[in-house]
Amino acid sequence: MSSEYVHLSFFKTHKIDYIYHPNSKTIEFPCIHCQHAAKMSSKSSEWFCDHCHQNGNLSNLLEFSKLHTFGKLFVPKKELKRIIQILNRLSKKYPDECNLSSLKNRIIYLVNYCNDKN
Ligand SMILES: [Zn+2]
Repeated sequence: MSSEYVHLSFFKTHKIDYIYHPNSKTIEFPCIHCQHAAKMSSKSSEWFCDHCHQNGNLSNLLEFSKLHTFGKLFVPKKELKRIIQILNRLSKKYPDECNLSSLKNRIIYLVNYCNDKN
């Protein structure tokens, strides 16, 4: 089992918001000091916050998680999922409104387009 997997599963099992960037091998998560996004190396688990300049590793986060809950992080994939769920519900409620399904496809296209640009 790779250390990368262990670090990612920490966020999964503790239900902490995170974004994994496979190209840069970093994991974004809510900083335990200031709630802005901190970045962790998925290989070493060393993390740093650009906002408050705190740093640490996985053991700091483990200690923190025993007594506190992590803040929230805006996760675009989760947000897209929620938007699609709302649009699906609206399509069922208003089946004659064909703009809703077109709107859903346009949002998905827009998000994918933005993802490709990044
Ligand atoms: Zn911070």
